[in-house]
Amino acid sequence: MKCKFCERDATHCHYLLWKEKPLKGNHRIMQQDHPELFQNLCALCHAKVHNTEPKKSELKQYILLRERAISAKNIIDAQIRGLGGVELLVPDFWLEESKRWEQQKLGCTKKLEHLLKEKDSELIKYLKGIKGISVVSVAYILAYLPVKDEIHVGLVHPKKLRAYWGLDPTHMKRRKGMSKEEVKKCGLGVMKKQLLGIIADNLVMKQKKYSGTPQGKYYDVYKSDKERRLKLHPELKKIHIEKQARRRMIEVFVNDLFYIAKKEQNGGEKNTGEA
Ligand SMILES: [Zn+2]
Ligand SMILES: [Zn+2]
Repeated sequence: MKCKFCERDATHCHYLLWKEKPLKGNHRIMQQDHPELFQNLCALCHAKVHNTEPKKSELKQYILLRERAISAKNIIDAQIRGLGGVELLVPDFWLEESKRWEQQKLGCTKKLEHLLKEKDSELIKYLKGIKGISVVSVAYILAYLPVKDEIHVGLVHPKKLRAYWGLDPTHMKRRKGMSKEEVKKCGLGVMKKQLLGIIADNLVMKQKKYSGTPQGKYYDVYKSDKERRLKLHPELKKIHIEKQARRRMIEVFVNDLFYIAKKEQNGGEKNTGEA
């Protein structure tokens, strides 16, 4: 299907009343019932309509599709394992389905790699140079980095960026029945998961052997923080101290990339024409 405004393939079904009556629930069913309320658009034209930076919007699109593929595969794999428990043969169809979602995920990863290759920036160079940071993690960071016109977050202070990404220790847990303001203070769950989960794991694992060298910088932050806490609070559970040390490491990591991104946003504007 082609985009309504240009020759590219349509990837988004844009909801025309997005400003007045935001969509709730399922896009597809809505489009089937009310085709007049939707336009099929490519990622670039869609970003234009919403006034967002197209590259970021494309990154987000493939991040989301990749996450969906991972959860679809997890569900099927759990079903397959379940059949083993009742001594039933696993139908070929399910095995193929699992493979299909794996392929889907790999396709999205490739697409993210490609999008990042096209974009050349100090921040990308810095991130790619860190041991333990995967291309997918770079994509998350770029996609969810606030831009200048997002005034409510912006790159004002590292503390604000940490809060935006869900690392504010005073607003960590999301509960049911929270007000909109409270939810905002919890930050972006998707970044919190990426930072404290995948990125923290990778930094600790992959940088261990570089401990004591510049390439082991973040591991060393984690290690010394952990040692300090163990001495200070021997009564605390190990798992608690482990979590806090990882959090400290991620804070330092986010602070570092805050300053690089800020410098780039202030200085790089004229050169690239990007906001
Ligand atoms: Zn288009
Ligand atoms: Zn839209």
